[in-house]
This record gives sequence, structure tokens and C-alpha cells, in this order.
Amino acid sequence: MADYFDLIVIGTGPAGLTAAIYARRRGMRVAVFGDTPGGNIVKIEHVANYPGFIGGIFGAQLGTALFAQAQSEGAFLPMIRLDRLLPHENGFLGIAQTGEEYLAPAAVAAFGVVPRKLDIPNSDKKGIYYCSLCDGPLFRDKSATLAVLGGGNMAAHEALSLSVFAKRVIIVNPASSLMAEEALVRQIEEKGNIEVLLNANIEAFHAGEGSIDGITVSVCGSEKIYIAVSGVFMAIGWGADLGVIQIPVETTQDGFLKTDAQLMTSTRGLFAAGDVRDTDMRQIVTACADGARVASYAFEYVSWKKR
Ligand SMILES: Cc1cc2nc3c(=O)[nH]c(=O)nc-3n(C[C@H](O)[C@H](O)[C@H](O)COP(=O)(O)OP(=O)(O)OC[C@H]3O[C@@H](n4cnc5c(N)ncnc54)[C@H](O)[C@@H]3O)c2cc1C
Repeated sequence: MADYFDLIVIGTGPAGLTAAIYARRRGMRVAVFGDTPGGNIVKIEHVANYPGFIGGIFGAQLGTALFAQAQSEGAFLPMIRLDRLLPHENGFLGIAQTGEEYLAPAAVAAFGVVPRKLDIPNSDKKGIYYCSLCDGPLFRDKSATLAVLGGGNMAAHEALSLSVFAKRVIIVNPASSLMAEEALVRQIEEKGNIEVLLNANIEAFHAGEGSIDGITVSVCGSEKIYIAVSGVFMAIGWGADLGVIQIPVETTQDGFLKTDAQLMTSTRGLFAAGDVRDTDMRQIVTACADGARVASYAFEYVSWKKR
């Protein structure tokens, strides 16, 4: 038998948790699904630009506080991921990965984005990583050469955090200059063990005993260099994995959820907030703002449905 709520929220990141806080404060019964309290921000070592914290705050600290606040407001947070969201005559049926069923007239997709992968052989081998905070410490003996693929803020953050552990970090940047914030570029220039290859791309991963031990990099489309590495950290952007939403829904060309001015998707009653939606800024503060707005629009929608 299904449990009834006013709102199903998919994702325990800043968008989903803020939506839960605001929806609870409007008296809605809210179920929030996800297995990481705080979502992606727990993977950010130091958040320097979230308002209210002079000198910044640890990502894990901010994520845990958001989660605790949603809990204290009375949101139902079972700490499981949603397996699928299906259409139902009363709105939506959510089925958790553990099999429990949940019904609600409205739902919010706030499940963020996943790292993009390179579609070349050996991409599934050990030694390819997507999070320096999670996997950087594997190289703490300071003997490794590591590659970072990408050239934006994400690549800059990854390279800086890996430079603490590795002997040498090589940023393989497909563009002709680093596109990261000036402050990050300056920090990279000041580090003695980070090199940047421009107009460069990884053409092949070489795998030894099951794990990546080298890469072939093409520079300016012609020159090919082999570099022995102990690991490659991917930082070429993020995309939405919409598999959980088993309902036809409109997306942009690059796969993000399209929303209207009330953050509703093309499916009535299904809203989207944070990184997963078509937006021009993917930051914690914008995810929180989406969460606050989406709760208000979902409240209006559910009140109208109940009339
Ligand atoms: C390296 C890096 C550094 C960054 N640094 C900063 C920074 O300094 N400042 C800043 O403002 N922003 C920063 N960002 C961006 C920021 O992390 C995101 O904009 C923000 O976390 C988006 O929040 P969200 O709630 O939309 O999604 P997320 O934080 O991604 O949370 C979504 C959660 O939903 C979960 N989920 C996915 N599928 C399901 C499912 N089926 N069921 C349940 N849960 C599911 C995901 O696992 C995830 O935990 C950084 C991002 C990266 C990658």
C-alpha cells in the first residue's frame, strides 16, 4: 500500500532540501528521496561563494546543515533513492529503490546532474575518477602523475585539490585557454606542480593490469603525446540522467528539463529545480532559490487540485 504525501521531492541536494524546508513551512506533507545528505555539495571541499559565510564553509558542513534543517521542519527523509516516478490518476507514484510506494499530486525533480564521460575504449577501467575530494586521497604518497581533463572551474578545482596529493598534475584542456575564474587561474599558476596543455584532448586511455596507466593526448589536433599517469580525473561538464522519470517530458537539446516561469515541466504537476533544469547558472545559491520558488508554485498547484 502506498503512503500519501502532498509533494514528492527527488534529490537531497540544496534544491531538494530547500524545497522541502519551504514546503513544510507551508504545511505540506513532503517526502524527499536521496542517499546523500546535501547532494553534490558534500563533495566540494570549500565553498567560498555561498552568502553568509565569511571565509567560506566546508561543503560537507553546509550539506549536513541543510539536511538537518529539512529534517527539523518535519520533512520525511527515508535516505533512499527513488527508483522511478510514474504517472498516476492522483498525480504521481514514486517507487523507492527498496520497493516502497509513495503517492502525491505533485513532484519536484531536483536530482542534479552527473559527470559526462568520454566515449572511447577503456573508459570503464579503474583509474578514471570523477571526484577529487572522494578519490584524490588515494594518491596521498605524492608520487603520482595525474591528468585532469577539462578547462573550466570544475577542472581548476580538481587540479588544485589534486596538487596537494600528487607529484605532478597535468590539465588536458581542449580549449585555447583556461575558462576558470581568475582567482582559480592565479592559484594554478602559483602552484609548482600543475601544468596545462592547451588545445589538447585525450585520444586514448591505456590500461595495464586492469587500471589506467597512460593516456595518448592529441595537441592541436595533430601532435600525439603519450603520458604515463596513475589516474585521470574527468572534468568535462555535467549532464542530466533523467532515467528515474518514467513520464514523457520535454528536454533541451543537451538533455536538461525544460521548465516554465513557475518551474513546471511539460508534465502538469511535475516541477524541476536546481542543476537538472534548463538554467543559465548552476550554483548552490541558485539551486536554493529554485527550491524556495518551486515549493511555493507546488503549494499553489496542490491547493488548486484539492479545491
Ligand atoms: C567540483 C565542483 C565544485 C563546485 N563548487 C561550487 C561552489 O564553490 N559554489 C557553488 O555555489 N556551487 C558549486 N558547485 C555547483 C553546486 O554543487 C551545484 O550547483 C548544486 O549542488 C546543485 O544542487 P542540486 O540540488 O540541483 O543538485 P545536487 O547537489 O547534485 O543534488 C542532487 C542529489 O540528488 C541525487 N539523486 C540523483 N538521482 C536520484 C534519484 N533517482 N533518487 C534520489 N536522489 C537522486 C544525487 O545523487 C544528488 O545527491 C560545484 C560543483 C562541482 C562539481
